[in-house]
Amino acid sequence: MRILLAEDDRMIADGLVRALKKSGYAVDHVINGTDADTALVTQLYDLLILDLGLPRLSGIDVLKRLRGRKSAVPVLILTAQDGIEDRVRGLDAGADDYLTKPFALPELEARVRALTRRGTGMPTQIDFGPLTYDQSEHVARINGQVVDFSARELGLLEILLLRAGRLVSKDQLVDHLCGWGEEVSTNAIEVYVHRLRKKLETGGVRIATVRGLGYCLEKPNEAVPGDGDGN
Ligand code: CA
Repeated sequence: MRILLAEDDRMIADGLVRALKKSGYAVDHVINGTDADTALVTQLYDLLILDLGLPRLSGIDVLKRLRGRKSAVPVLILTAQDGIEDRVRGLDAGADDYLTKPFALPELEARVRALTRRGTGMPTQIDFGPLTYDQSEHVARINGQVVDFSARELGLLEILLLRAGRLVSKDQLVDHLCGWGEEVSTNAIEVYVHRLRKKLETGGVRIATVRGLGYCLEKPNEAVPGDGDGN
């Protein structure tokens, strides 16, 4: 899941970036409206967290341009406490939800989960053979037992689960796992996949490698045609 955060208040932004990354999201951060607009044109996001009081181009204008391009990216707006008119304008311009500053981090995280879930149309819990993944708690279980995954491993697992049965390329994984300024090579992706694969093995869930193309999650006793033969 990749999130764009448009917020010019450094303190708020730093806290948000840290918390969201810890939860396994890839986060790109911009500090003005024009950069937000450019980012939204060039990159696909699962969620936009948008401060309405942005320099250069207001949050409302960013939102209007986004919806003008028929983009359905879920948008959570951040507004000042007394900004009732701002909230109304934001919702009218196509925002999905709002939070007033100051807000509690757990509340923001709950709204982020709700909005990203709505975006994928997926239920909170994903079942995949002996594996279950709770998207709101970021917890994965194999045969009911909680497995200790790192944030990166969970991010990876989530993408593979959301696209279960389909091939996911290394480039797609890099794209979903990493925000700007984070140098993660496709070699590093191989290391994460290796670690995740070892932990999933206990439940018989496999990550099949289709050479040159990418990865595919398999339930026990399932096989992908052409797995490993280079086709
Ligand atoms: Ca601001």
